[in-house]
Amino acid sequence: MSDARSEAPMLSVEDLSVVFRTDKERVHALDGVNFDIREGETVGLVGESGSGKSVTARSILGLINDPGRIESGAIRFRGRDLTDVGWTDARGDIAIVFQDPSGSLNPVYTVGNQIREALKIHRGLTGRAAREEAIRLLESVGIPDAPGRVNAYPNEFSGGMRQRAVIATALACDPDLLVCDEPTTALDVTIQAQILDLLDDLQRESGLSILFITHDMGVVSTVADRVNVMYAGEIVERAPADRLFSDPAHPYTRGLLASIPSVGARGDRLLTIDGEVPTPNEAPTACRFAPRCPKAFEACDHVHPKHVDQGGGQSAACLLFEEEHTTPVTPETGRPGVADTHSAAETDGGTE
Ligand code: SF4
Repeated sequence: MSDARSEAPMLSVEDLSVVFRTDKERVHALDGVNFDIREGETVGLVGESGSGKSVTARSILGLINDPGRIESGAIRFRGRDLTDVGWTDARGDIAIVFQDPSGSLNPVYTVGNQIREALKIHRGLTGRAAREEAIRLLESVGIPDAPGRVNAYPNEFSGGMRQRAVIATALACDPDLLVCDEPTTALDVTIQAQILDLLDDLQRESGLSILFITHDMGVVSTVADRVNVMYAGEIVERAPADRLFSDPAHPYTRGLLASIPSVGARGDRLLTIDGEVPTPNEAPTACRFAPRCPKAFEACDHVHPKHVDQGGGQSAACLLFEEEHTTPVTPETGRPGVADTHSAAETDGGTE
């Protein structure tokens, strides 16, 4: 977790909506996503599989391809909207580490070759200078005997070493922002801890900003300064990490935290959230979480929740916190539509 942070956002994702079009339908993968990342900060993006985390990561990198497209919103990196000016100038400033290190490395090229390729493209290094920098990068991510292993192929590395090599390749771009998309999910817990320590060390040394994407609340609690909780293509809660874990507001966040297995709870049934994340091509409900929410009340079926400030940098998009329910949806789309006000007093809901 970072200590040195400025208040100015390095990256601002503003009202981002991403749609995938097929012959038959338009599938909304992201719907009005907002969050930001400041200099030297680690921001977590958590949620179950299918919540839109990876589409968010790919959007930031400019990797949404046909039939998908960014339909609206902005991705401002150092003040410039990349959806407007394009990603070319920012390519070396933002790097990504994917979940599966085996899929990220080309098996027919040596690890050193792949790092040198990134050094050539992004920093213009070739020959001996590139080889020496590749070795330095491998050393910086904790690869033992880096001068000897720089000529090894990915299959000669263990899973943890492959993920370190992927991180070294990402660092070869000399990025300011590292997007880590489930970087430890494919690793066992001891290697996972080593990779988390490595990212923490790299951030302290270089002042990197990190977007850390995971479905694992335990992992995000150890790495993030602030956390955004995502559900069905929307951010439903955002808060400083310590506050999110000590005082979660949104019923979905509470469900996720209650689902974390506890070593001391032997013999007890593991709590889960009933149901599943809706697929993007399902007709959205007014509150996306309503079909699974233990706190749902009448208005949740026809009013789209807005973010409500909870103080201390925390906000939650839930009608339990709205006094007047004024963001109804049109039944056909499940998205905000024609005004129809419902008072909280007319419902039997209430804040816990
Ligand atoms: S708006 Fe209603 S259904 Fe949605 S999370 Fe809040 S209480 Fe649950």
